[in-house]
This record gives sequence, structure tokens and C-alpha cells, in this order.
Amino acid sequence: MSQTIFPKLTIPETLAAGPGPGNTDARVLQAFAAAGVADHMQGDVLRGMIECKHMLRQIWGTRNVHTFAVAGTGWSALDTMFSAVMPGDRVVAFSNGTFSGIDALTLRIKAATPAEHAADSLNPQAASVTVIEVPHGQSVTGDVIEAALAEHEPKWAFMAHWETGSGRINDLRGFSDACARHGVMGLIDAVSSLGVEDFSIDDYPGVAGWASCPQKGLCCLPLTYAPVSFTDAYIASLKATGAYSYVHNPIFEARHWGIVDGQDVDKGTYHRTHSGYAVAAFHESLRLTLQETLAKRAGAYRTHEAALRDAVTAMGCEVTSNMTSLVVLNLPGDLAGREMELVQNCRAEGFGIWPTLSAPVQVRIGILNQLQPGAIREIVRRFADAMRAMGADVDHAAVEAVLDKHYIQTIAAQ
Ligand SMILES: *Cc1c(COP(=O)(O)O)cnc(C)c1O
Repeated sequence: MSQTIFPKLTIPETLAAGPGPGNTDARVLQAFAAAGVADHMQGDVLRGMIECKHMLRQIWGTRNVHTFAVAGTGWSALDTMFSAVMPGDRVVAFSNGTFSGIDALTLRIKAATPAEHAADSLNPQAASVTVIEVPHGQSVTGDVIEAALAEHEPKWAFMAHWETGSGRINDLRGFSDACARHGVMGLIDAVSSLGVEDFSIDDYPGVAGWASCPQKGLCCLPLTYAPVSFTDAYIASLKATGAYSYVHNPIFEARHWGIVDGQDVDKGTYHRTHSGYAVAAFHESLRLTLQETLAKRAGAYRTHEAALRDAVTAMGCEVTSNMTSLVVLNLPGDLAGREMELVQNCRAEGFGIWPTLSAPVQVRIGILNQLQPGAIREIVRRFADAMRAMGADVDHAAVEAVLDKHYIQTIAAQ
């Protein structure tokens, strides 16, 4: 048999201007590359994990003992959070875009009975799960949540905090309050909001489980650890029912982070292999977040999103999102319907913007860890060039003037 050895893989530097992963911070990469070889029971690796746990509790504003992180990406954390949902459990899930749609699928997979799995294994129609579909481009609102929980009286309710597919912020306060009123355990996909928005878990007592990721707001693309947090009520429910998972059972997983029988202990015990490189990178991303402060970061996202939004609006685009890390837009008149083509042209040139992943096709431009006027100006310039190349009449001076006005005001306000 002949063998093929490919040339060494080179991956170019691109401008990461999508919904995530974000522009990884140089300090995080440095920490990743500078870590020595050490196994997952070595003292500094274990200490690093314990310190990460404590930093996560500060960043997430919570006293939940079960606050730690799961090796992998957002879906790893979400799978861990959903592991307590058992076949036949009554669930209400709110879906307003790609990601909450996949979350709702995960919930149908978890809650389906064996007969429901056998009938349609890749898309089980679990009778105990009600999915409330909110149209793409709209937010999930408190009145919709209240009505659904009152009608269905589920054990669990689910919502994405920030739905990255459509760029919409959903009503977390309304969700938590409705869960508390109806005695429902709320589960939140916070993959896009952690590290971008300034919020505290403990202000939302109706939410029992939270799941996030490393590579968006925490700027840690060396895929490391996806944060999770659970209330004691969630853990009690999990302990009572069990879960069909060893690796993603939060009670087992927490042990390596030094959480045993609901208590912090000095040293983690083996659950699975952890990487010293990953621990070092994740640790640095959490330090960076605490040093910058969430309040400052959230303010910077608001400032720069407003600048980008006004600039693309000045180019004739229609923005339909309200997240502060991402602008989701329709192209103006003549280019309407050519969103995918424009995104592909940009991506071919290393300008990594994204289309929506479910209908309707829109353009998504993200600013994760691009919180500098120069970075936003570069994104705007490249986007304007791409529109011009497709025949749009973009008034360069007018767009520049919009950005100048924003940044002069920002500097004046400092
Ligand atoms: C990105 C994202 C996910 C998926 O996360 P991965 O890191 O790709 O596993 C899930 N939910 C939301 C809201 C997201 O933005």
C-alpha cells in the first residue's frame, strides 16, 4: 500500500469577524505555548483547575458550588447541562434561531422514550417536549415564556440567553421570574453572552443550569474548557434521577475540579485526562477577563457595536440584531438576496464574516475581542470594499464620518 504524507499544514492568519470563535488573545496563546508537559494529576495543573473554578465563580457572579468547566466547546457544556433531563421529562424549550433550535433537538433527544428514538432516531419527536418557535430576528419575551410555562407546567424550561444565529438577546429576567413562579428549573445557553455581557448568575434564581464556551467572550480558541454552573436544586435532581453519561455527568465531572459531595476540597480527583496546556490557556483567559473587568468589557462591546451598526446602516444595510458582539444584517436593495455570495467573497480573502446558518440568509459580522477603533475601521473598510466589488455605491467619506463621530464622542466621554 502506498502512503501519502501531506506537506506540513499551514493555517493563515485571518480576520476573525464572525459570531465566534473570536480573535484569540495573544496572552492566551502565549500561556498555551509556554506550559510545560505535565499530566492531569500534577500539582500545578490541579491547582490551576481549582483557581479557574474560583475565577469562574467571580466572573459569573455566583455562589453555586458546582461551577467548573467541561473539556470542549459550547456543545460539550450544553450536553453536560442537559444530561439531567431524562426520558419522559416534561420540557418547554424556546427556539428563535440556529443554536436554540439545536438545543431544542438535544432536549428532544434526551427526553425521548426508547419508542420515540426508534421511530425517528436522528430527530426524535418527544411528546414530553414542547418547542415554542419564535420567528428568526425576534427575541423571546417574558409574556411568551409566562404563557408557555403556565400552560405546560414542565419540569425544565430552556432558552438561549443570546441567540447567535439571529443575533437576538432574549429576556433572561422574564425567563428566570417565570421559572421561579411556576417551580420550573430553568436551563440557559449562555455560550454567546459569557465574557461579553456584565451579568451575575445569582441575580436569576429561577435558572438552575448554565452552559457557555471558551472561544467566544472568553477569547480562548485553543479549545479548552466550556464553563458550566448548577444550583443545588439541579444537583439534587440529578442525584435523584441519575444521567445516562459518565463523562458529562456534572457530579462526576466536578470531582476533577475539586468539588466532591457538594463541597470544595483541596485537590481534584481523577475524572478524565486534562491538558496542562489547556488549563494554562483557560486560566489566562479568566485572569484577563477579571483584570479588564466585565463591566468595562461590556461597555466597550456596546460602544463598538454601535459604531459598526451605524456604519453598515450608512451603507444602506438593515440591521436586525441587538446583541453587542455581533451585527446581523440584510444587504440594501440592489444586493438583496446576494448575502451568501458576499460572505463567500469576503471569506475567500481571509475576512472571516459569516452567513446565518438557517433561513433567512443574512450576513453576520462579529467583533469578539476586536474592541479597538482601528479594528472596527478595518472591518468596516473591508466590508465596504466587498459591497463595492459587487456593484454597490458606497460613499466612503460618509461612512468614515459616521465612525469619526462615534469615536470622537467615545474619546470625549473618557
Ligand atoms: C456558538 C454557540 C453554540 C455552539 O457552541 P460550539 O462552541 O460550537 O460547540 C451554542 N449556542 C450558542 C448560543 C452559540 O452561540
